[in-house]
Amino acid sequence: MYCIKCGKEMRENSKFCSYCGTPAYSIQAPIVEIVEREEVPPQSKAKDSVIISIIGGTMILAILMIVMLGTWIR
Ligand SMILES: [Zn+2]
Repeated sequence: MYCIKCGKEMRENSKFCSYCGTPAYSIQAPIVEIVEREEVPPQSKAKDSVIISIIGGTMILAILMIVMLGTWIR
């Protein structure tokens, strides 16, 4: 690891920089935010789109049926 102030290499277990005395805690390990994302596999996405298209198709069919029935009844 390296000193954040002077950039000199420091020993891994040293708490302070031996050159400028800057505390080393802030540079020890980069804090990486691990954001847990719910990764949806592409298969289920495709499945979802298929389901949506099926629902849309059936809805369109239902609307057409209603419209046709309405014209027939008249
Ligand atoms: Zn330093």
